[in-house]
Amino acid sequence: MSVRSRAAAPGVRHLVVVLGDQLDAGSAALDGFEPGRDVIWMAEVAAESEHVVSSKVRTALFLSAMRHFRDAQRKLGRRVEYVELDASGNTQTLAGELARAIQALKPERILMVGAGEWRLAQEIAAVAQKAGLPLEVRADRHFLCSPEEFQQHAHGRKQLRMEFFYREMRRRHRVLLDKAGEPLGGQWNFDHDNRESFGRDGPPRPLPAPRRFPPDATTRAVLGLVERKFAQHPGDLAAFDWPVTPEQAREALRDFIDHRLTDFGRYQDAIWVGEPWLYHSRISAAMNLKLLDPREVIASAEEAVRSGRVPLAAGEGFIRQILGWREYVRGIYWTRMPGYLERNTLDAHAPLPAWYWTGDTEMACLRDAITQTLAHGYAHHIQRLMVTGLYSLLLGVDPREVHAWYLGVYVDAVEWVELPNTLGMSQYADGGVMASKPYAATGKYLQRMGNACAGCRFDPAKATGDDACPFTTLYWDFLLRHEKVLRANQRMALQVKNVDRLNTAQRADIRARAASIREGGGEPPAPRGGLPLTAAGAG
Ligand code: FAD
Repeated sequence: MSVRSRAAAPGVRHLVVVLGDQLDAGSAALDGFEPGRDVIWMAEVAAESEHVVSSKVRTALFLSAMRHFRDAQRKLGRRVEYVELDASGNTQTLAGELARAIQALKPERILMVGAGEWRLAQEIAAVAQKAGLPLEVRADRHFLCSPEEFQQHAHGRKQLRMEFFYREMRRRHRVLLDKAGEPLGGQWNFDHDNRESFGRDGPPRPLPAPRRFPPDATTRAVLGLVERKFAQHPGDLAAFDWPVTPEQAREALRDFIDHRLTDFGRYQDAIWVGEPWLYHSRISAAMNLKLLDPREVIASAEEAVRSGRVPLAAGEGFIRQILGWREYVRGIYWTRMPGYLERNTLDAHAPLPAWYWTGDTEMACLRDAITQTLAHGYAHHIQRLMVTGLYSLLLGVDPREVHAWYLGVYVDAVEWVELPNTLGMSQYADGGVMASKPYAATGKYLQRMGNACAGCRFDPAKATGDDACPFTTLYWDFLLRHEKVLRANQRMALQVKNVDRLNTAQRADIRARAASIREGGGEPPAPRGGLPLTAAGAG
């Protein structure tokens, strides 16, 4: 094991800790790096794939990108102490490996940029403290808004809203502004031009296939390792094609700007069975692992708009996701942790259905979203929010279980970005910090936005009866269960008002069917007789 074999080397000045989501060659942690005196330290440990069950695809992406980063740094002549997953003596925890490295290398100081997860930041600080070593945590310049700046933005505001934060960010970073410093095109947000579905005929053919990155020798070795070590974990490595180096990440970005950005905003909310990528960028993982700088992403999109290659509405819609949402959720995470993880406003305690780990469900939209998630470690935003997220919200699943699933299955999942999206935006467990109202809808929303319902045995218009769509049943049950809380929310007023139209028998039928869905492990029982009830006006 390399740490031991180098133990004799004296005089290490800085031990530069690089975690799996910190693969930034321009990281502040590497400022002033002296090859003769400083050492980069990285470790592959099973605990990071097991503290929540991580899909094979997610683990493989992290390990492959880490190994490519190690090799690139070594090529620059830097010393990298790297613990592989199957190295003998690997304690399989980051704390254990860091403690071993400190013992072997005896550095004067530990350096890093902030971890992407509260838990890890605490663990590393504890190891440094125990070893009596100074730990210098440098500001991470990958991001465009520091937690302190976010705190300033939040200060004195009763209610946070992404839109206001986004406008501040546009002004501060001078993005999509005209010469007078006002928003290009005269408005900040072009969302009303976006968010179409494909209609009955489906996407314009052919959909532009995204650039693939077939595994090289390093990735193939990792795929084999992950298959052996995490054989029982969900996910399938057969289709692995994620970018694992900065060069590949840049190619993925170019491919998106050239072939899909024009239609990004327009079809941002559309869903189509068997088409996982549509017009999405697929760059979240590359950005979150820091293979790709968000500034470069934003600048490329802005250049495409200014040169007339891409409509302003599409470019603005895309930039808003990165300069707005991505930075906003990070601000929420770091200003609300650690208490945020414990939030459960709707007091939800149902277990996550077992089929979230297999995709083995009769509901076509969920089957498609989960199957593609397991095959690629990817689902686009609307699938995450309005298919898997909506269903667990309506079913009343414990937000901690939902969080563990999202953190485990997606290649781009790092807690700072996953948790506010899952627990806040999709489960409303934070009581309205992320979203002003729960994203609750019936199956009719899904029917409008995609084609899954056409191939499904359930009818999205029905709340009761054997062929009632479980989303629709559970939507009404959700309104009934949380009527009091929801009535207090102005933005839910219209939706909750519909509850008044249900008579006693209808309410009883909805509740009975919802109960049977819960008893069935999150799926309706096999068909038998039942009263159809048309769900009106919802979603
Ligand atoms: P595109 O649709 O092409 O969007 C462009 C980029 O905008 C993304 O790459 C991403 O960096 C950024 N972005 C878009 N929406 C958001 C958002 N809500 N929050 C933060 N950044 C955003 N994103 C993650 O990066 N990691 C996660 O673990 C994650 N978990 C999510 C969980 C739930 C329940 C929900 C509803 C959303 C989650 N998102 C997460 C946000 C979003 O779904 C993904 O960023 C997006 O689907 C990634 O695919 P893409 O790169 O093709 O994105």
